[in-house]
Amino acid sequence: MTTNKKIGIIGSGFSGLAAASVLAKENHSVHVFEKNDQIGGRARKFSAEGFTFDMGPSWYWMPDVIEKFYNKFNHTTSDFYELIKLDPGFKVIFKDADAVSIPAKWEELCQLFEDIETGAADKLRKFMSGAEYKYNIGVNDLVYQPGLSILEVLRMDLVMGVFKLDVFSSFRTHVRKYFKDPRLVAIMEFPVLFLGAMPKDTPALYSLMNFAGMKQGTFYPMGGFSKIPEAMKKIALEQGVEFHLNHDVKEIVLDHNRATHLRFDHKNESVDSIIASADYHHVEQVLLPESHRNYNEKYWNNRVFAPSSLLFYLGVDKKVPNLDHHNLFFDEDLDQHAEELYVNKSWPSKPLFYVCCPSKTDESVAPEGKENVFLLMPLAPGLEDGEALRETYFDIMMDRLEAYTKSDIRAHISYKRSYCISDFESDYNAYKGNAYGLANTLLQTANLKPKIKNNKIDNLYYTGQLTVPGPGVPPSIISGQVAADQLLKSIKKSK
Ligand SMILES: Cc1cc2nc3c(=O)[nH]c(=O)nc-3n(C[C@H](O)[C@H](O)[C@H](O)COP(=O)(O)OP(=O)(O)OC[C@H]3O[C@@H](n4cnc5c(N)ncnc54)[C@H](O)[C@@H]3O)c2cc1C
Repeated sequence: MTTNKKIGIIGSGFSGLAAASVLAKENHSVHVFEKNDQIGGRARKFSAEGFTFDMGPSWYWMPDVIEKFYNKFNHTTSDFYELIKLDPGFKVIFKDADAVSIPAKWEELCQLFEDIETGAADKLRKFMSGAEYKYNIGVNDLVYQPGLSILEVLRMDLVMGVFKLDVFSSFRTHVRKYFKDPRLVAIMEFPVLFLGAMPKDTPALYSLMNFAGMKQGTFYPMGGFSKIPEAMKKIALEQGVEFHLNHDVKEIVLDHNRATHLRFDHKNESVDSIIASADYHHVEQVLLPESHRNYNEKYWNNRVFAPSSLLFYLGVDKKVPNLDHHNLFFDEDLDQHAEELYVNKSWPSKPLFYVCCPSKTDESVAPEGKENVFLLMPLAPGLEDGEALRETYFDIMMDRLEAYTKSDIRAHISYKRSYCISDFESDYNAYKGNAYGLANTLLQTANLKPKIKNNKIDNLYYTGQLTVPGPGVPPSIISGQVAADQLLKSIKKSK
């Protein structure tokens, strides 16, 4: 076995982990440098007082994308964890405690829609058939394109299908063509929150997310979401990847148009090539000189960012009634919160929020008889987030949570930790403390995303949620593979 090149990966999130294994499989010597003391990036975990909290993602959608990655390395999901389909997948709570639970079985979901609005079952079937078409083309094909040439999207089959793909119509208009009941509209529009833009600015192409979350279903890896980065680390170690934790890259050292070293506080590491999976903005604006950046500060400032979040990790010393695993509090106006997120960029007046209670499914994440509760409120990036503000919103969320569950929760909180914009900045070097990267607006889709290749440095590629294909766990895993494939091609070409 010959070792070819020494490749440095900056960051150990999903994209960095995926890129590392793909490169090491081709016998390159791959070193992952991570600033934190744990791999996983935004999907780290921590334990306190017998509770285990996933710090970031909790919705396991598109299991086929993750399975396909494991298959590349002769593994399957069950080699690493038990994956269960949640039923109900999630619950949406509207005004006056009116709640709708989304069943896992397709026919039950159609019936639920019909019960809410006459004729909605047929409309849902039609909507989903279009969404499935988009999923098959989008997730199995388009998202694996590097976004470097316009020819990738000018292929005859895609041009012919462009209207079927609904690239140019808005998600908001698309949903309203099918459904009228405001509850159904909200249920269909909610996945767009994951994409981080107002439904009116998001291409209807992204109804593929409805297919993922409502037809394929919502899954959960027993043991917690961190099981995925742990599985990816095992694969990487099998391929010979070396991990260097507590290694904060301070500079990418250049010789003309090539990167030669990574500089840390007390040493330099030589490299033949680099894949940067830390936030793109940080890599360019902090680790590279101005002369070698793809984009300037003005460019970043003009991008539409997906929201940041205010999070609370709570250990509750009793069981909380009336909660499912995933609970969306849509008991206030979605449009108003979206407006405050994207237009006014202010702390919301009447926020929507999400409550995850994984201990409803998994007894390993909380001590017996107790509950692991995670609150998430989407928030515009770049805002000031002092302790007093965090507490104000904690009380707003708890008032509504306690009223809905008819349960006194605050008096039973034995562990509490908040996490917000400034933590995203200090822990991940996240631009404006963003949580989920760039929003998937029409002008920030596919070829219009920040480029995966540095066009002034021959051996530097970018990966992760700020480049193609976009935010979310499955896209980040795909992004790592796409960046690694591009680097492999350029190494082959230079031989
Ligand atoms: C609260 C929250 C909830 C989410 N919920 C979901 C969900 O339910 N489902 C879903 O699919 N997605 C969800 N997401 C999005 C998903 O988690 C991300 O899109 C994905 O994890 C991003 O992976 P990444 O590899 O691009 O970046 P990251 O995970 O950020 O990895 C980048 C790594 O680079 C490291 N780094 C930064 N600077 C340096 C440096 N100078 N030197 C060395 N290392 C450095 C960072 O420490 C980090 O470990 C959520 C995200 C958050 C924050």
